[in-house]
Amino acid sequence: MKYKTLKGLQDILPPEVSIWQHIEATARDIFRAYGYQEIRLPILESTDIFVRSIGETSDIVEKEMYTFQDKGGRSVTLRPEGTASFVRAYVEHHLYNNPAPQKYYYMGPMFRYERPQAYRYRQFYQIGAEAMGVEDPKLDAEIISMLTKILSGIGLAGLNFEITSIGCKKCRPAYRDALKNFLREKLNSFCSDCQRRFDVNPLRILDCKVPDCVSIRQGSPPVIDYLCAECKEHFESLKHHVILLKVPHTINPNLVRGLDYYNKTAFEVTSESLGAQKAVAAGGRYDGLVDEFGGPPTPGIGFAIGMERIIPLIKDSVNKTEGPDLFICTLGEKTTEEAFLLAEQLRSQGIMVEMNYELHSLKSQMRKADRIGARNVISIGEDEIKKGLIVIKDMGSKKETEIGFYAAELIKIIRENK
Ligand SMILES: [Zn+2]
Ligand SMILES: [Zn+2]
Repeated sequence: MKYKTLKGLQDILPPEVSIWQHIEATARDIFRAYGYQEIRLPILESTDIFVRSIGETSDIVEKEMYTFQDKGGRSVTLRPEGTASFVRAYVEHHLYNNPAPQKYYYMGPMFRYERPQAYRYRQFYQIGAEAMGVEDPKLDAEIISMLTKILSGIGLAGLNFEITSIGCKKCRPAYRDALKNFLREKLNSFCSDCQRRFDVNPLRILDCKVPDCVSIRQGSPPVIDYLCAECKEHFESLKHHVILLKVPHTINPNLVRGLDYYNKTAFEVTSESLGAQKAVAAGGRYDGLVDEFGGPPTPGIGFAIGMERIIPLIKDSVNKTEGPDLFICTLGEKTTEEAFLLAEQLRSQGIMVEMNYELHSLKSQMRKADRIGARNVISIGEDEIKKGLIVIKDMGSKKETEIGFYAAELIKIIRENK
């Protein structure tokens, strides 16, 4: 019998995992500079949290959630995205009582039961940020600027940053009507989901992934033409501040958001190198979500970066193999114990050490040191122990140096050879 990962899931192995660590470390540094603090949330939540916030007629809720009954008979769901869980925690712990803006970030797995395809997994990882309590578009511009800094800090280039406004509850009725007028005569050609959504939530038709629906809805009126005075002013100020912060961007009036809770600012970062799955990050404002969860009316804005989308874009540019600082070859049983102790001593000083545990020929040990990318090699024989002298070989320059056989001497030269 062969065991395998479930369909659409993947193992992340070394050395590739170092690319993940590089991305996470870069993001953490930039989050810190902008005053974002980490928040760690459970991956399992009560199902109604997602139905309520993401929207009953969304693709995620209708088709993609990992929902099941736990042993207590409760309906639970593996989180399909981070914001709903975050807002649940924000309200539950009264985080709105802290001075605004409250800024948080998270990193972790999300789950959606989708057809696996390139860069799209059923367990996928996101890095997300949420900023709460400020309605001013300066915060929108700031979070957008922070996102560009994270992406360029990671080493991504050739990205398009698209921004729009998707209006608010006030401007939506007029837009709904305009959209329905546009879609009405084409309705029979849409998929059955879209036909049903036409009356319940016609905006949903804009993010249906069925190829026919995508092409039939081409040319539908953009929300941006139907903004109320308040949304228009917010959007103008956002554009002004994004230019002020020198964020390269384009205005894309056709951006849509697949989640019900977004309003006003929406943005997306895409890469042409990813083909159809070209979004690497997306976000927007969700000013009504906190009251939806029973908290006081609180504006919020956030984004999420899709890890699996950015990994292939930087895979080749990140140096991913980290061999040990020192490999210790041993010659004979007596010297193995000496090596074992020395390795432990050096590791306690932060030196990465590997050694040979079993009795092998010196030649095969040297070959192994080379294969794992050791930067320095020593061989401990009885002679070395007797004389108190040892030869350290820098595997890069092939230079050999004789030094005293002490941990301190070794550490000194290993640091010099770096
Ligand atoms: Zn509006
Ligand atoms: Zn459709």
